[in-house]
Amino acid sequence: MTAHPLFPTDLDRLPHHLIDGAGHSGAGQPRALIDPATGESYLSVVDADPTQVGQAVASAKGALRGWADTAPGARAQVLFRLADLIAGQADRLAAVESANVGKPLSQARRDVIRAVAYFRFYAGCCDKLNGDSIPLGPDQTALTVLEPVGVTAHILPWNYPISTLARGAAPALAVGATIVAKPSELTPLSAIMVAQLALEAGVPPGVFNVVCGAGDVGAALAGHADIAHVTFTGSTATGRRVMQAASAPVAGVTLELGGKSPVVVLADADLGAAADGVVRGIFFNAGQVCAAGARLICHRDVHEALIERVVERAEALTFGHPLDDPDLGPLVSASQIARVDGFVDRARTAGLRCVTGGHRVRPDALPNGLFYAPTIFTDVPADSEIARDEVFGPVLVTQICEDADHALTLANGSDFGLVAGIYTADASRALQIARRVEAGQVFVNGFLQGGDTVPFGGMKHSGIGREKGLAGLAAYCATKSIVLNH
Ligand code: NAD
Repeated sequence: MTAHPLFPTDLDRLPHHLIDGAGHSGAGQPRALIDPATGESYLSVVDADPTQVGQAVASAKGALRGWADTAPGARAQVLFRLADLIAGQADRLAAVESANVGKPLSQARRDVIRAVAYFRFYAGCCDKLNGDSIPLGPDQTALTVLEPVGVTAHILPWNYPISTLARGAAPALAVGATIVAKPSELTPLSAIMVAQLALEAGVPPGVFNVVCGAGDVGAALAGHADIAHVTFTGSTATGRRVMQAASAPVAGVTLELGGKSPVVVLADADLGAAADGVVRGIFFNAGQVCAAGARLICHRDVHEALIERVVERAEALTFGHPLDDPDLGPLVSASQIARVDGFVDRARTAGLRCVTGGHRVRPDALPNGLFYAPTIFTDVPADSEIARDEVFGPVLVTQICEDADHALTLANGSDFGLVAGIYTADASRALQIARRVEAGQVFVNGFLQGGDTVPFGGMKHSGIGREKGLAGLAAYCATKSIVLNH
């Protein structure tokens, strides 16, 4: 057992899966959860097997009619209660999430508060799912009603387990759909805890199921005959597989995938604000953020001055056990740190210039922790691997631009299109770039500050569909048209 005083000690009481309102152990492979700050194993969770996936989907199917027919106001009450229960458990949930993911405690707490906000926002939508009436002449009227799409699968990543769960589960439940969630095999704990709280809040058994396990469990879920929609958050490679699997039941898909998001800094930008945004954008959660600002595209005239500020801020960041709330926690797993190290080694071998970092960090108190130094490569060619591919770690690359048009060309020269940042004092230029940049969300003179109610999702290889805000309801609603002859 890992020794930190805030480390939750009663996790072995959690069930491994929640199916039809009851906790279960797994029937598949046991899997050790490792504290990435110490390398010590603290819990074993047994994966679901295909039969348990089938049971979870069957229970969600069985519960669908009752939940869909629950009066919207009553559904709202249950979801508001769930939000309150999560808020009431925020300290414990944040500690579990922090320990499980390795993310600094204050960031984990922010994710929990975000989950509360999603449930509150979508609880408020339950009784506002209005349809239309369509004029067809004096003898006919057409109505549209929004029905829940059916049983929905939610396949989650390890970097934001509780907030990605909530941003899909809350709108699905609000419209009357039922869910089977599959958290990442690395970070299953918060999903199980939220599903337990859902039962306590009055969500009927079978409406909110959780099965844990790795890709085989996700694949069985995504391709199950009774799934109507799959909301997947993870890598682009896995997203493609999920899309294929979901073609068997002809299910809808929302794919929230990877990114290599550009942050454009023009010559007239406030460099202090830009440096703050760049540092936060790539080193928050140790760079393990889909929307990380991984490519700084900076005007030649201010590149050197900006890099100086960014390096100074990066080198001041602290490391420590996530439960001590440092600036940077460990990366999530040994394979993730090997992946990051591989990108950095290959970039060095290719002759690219690393101006800070580029190595593991072994704090005295945590010599086995998976820490990686904030790393910056400057003036990298657009076609280099480290400029093209998602590293998913604390690694920034810079590209130098000559003017706004060149910046836009560089920004759009990526297969990804998740978010983009623009720093400039010229508002109309910012808007022109914002309109032409290929990204689902654009920040001007700030970065990653959209909040919970603003639609989010990718273009190109970053995905399809939108979550958050009112746009997040669409995936879970099936529009039915009724034509009345009178
Ligand atoms: P991943 O693709 O490895 O795994 C994501 C989930 O898919 C996990 O639950 C995994 O068990 C499951 N899975 C694996 N193989 C599967 C298969 N064949 N069928 C069904 N499910 C399968 O991603 P990850 O490493 O957990 O997360 C990191 C990635 O997620 C990064 O690329 C990151 O950019 C992306 N991400 C995107 C967003 C977003 O909103 N766009 C948010 C967070 C993370």
